[in-house]
Amino acid sequence: MRVVLLGPPGSGKGTVAEKIKELYGLVHISTGDLFRNCIRQNTPIGQEAKVFIDRGDLVPDELTVRMLAERLDNDDCADGFLLDGFPRTLDQADALEALMNKSGFSLDVALNVSVPDRMIMERLSGRRVCPECGATYNIYSQPSLEPGICDVCQSELTQRPDDKDATIRHRLDTYAVRTAPLLDYYEQQGILRSIDNSGDLAATFAQLKEVLPQ
Ligand code: ADP
Ligand code: ZN
Repeated sequence: MRVVLLGPPGSGKGTVAEKIKELYGLVHISTGDLFRNCIRQNTPIGQEAKVFIDRGDLVPDELTVRMLAERLDNDDCADGFLLDGFPRTLDQADALEALMNKSGFSLDVALNVSVPDRMIMERLSGRRVCPECGATYNIYSQPSLEPGICDVCQSELTQRPDDKDATIRHRLDTYAVRTAPLLDYYEQQGILRSIDNSGDLAATFAQLKEVLPQ
């Protein structure tokens, strides 16, 4: 199965992705994670992407598509994948379609994860991450046992540079202008499915089973 996940920053795409991965055994490819890895390892792509990411801007399509195409070329993607955070522009969607056509495949589902706007700010501005082990928390809804300290490895939790309030608003605007048009794009292809991720996770997971093929 080949799935792309859509939804604004803060919609909980990451959590939904983890569940899909567990249910379907798909490889989970997050372009945000790929970029953050490149930045951590200080690769040429990381150096170029960091400026855009820290401002809350999208990384240019050419660079993003190049990184993604390389990742999709790995053997572990041969039988399917779950893309999280890609495509984010119509040009990226076209590029993905071209890549898939070349290998004779097509997308099965574009899954839109939606939440009401008011929940988004809370989710993003409350998000804290462990720089050591990658565990994520939310100071409002999912705090660590001891404030500011990772439950798993006791490291000090940090806020992603792009999770500061002004940057969050910019990311949301960018989503509305550049990414939301993808909903129509996939609707027209007949593969758009939507779930509401504002309730508890059990409710979200129940919807997943309804909209994804068995
Ligand atoms: P979120 O969904 O929480 O905004 P991600 O982890 O998906 O965050 O992405 C973080 C940042 O990485 C984005 O704000 C953007 O700068 C960059 N990025 C990730 N995916 C893409 C993409 N497909 N196109 C352009 N930039 C991207
Ligand atoms: Zn940790």
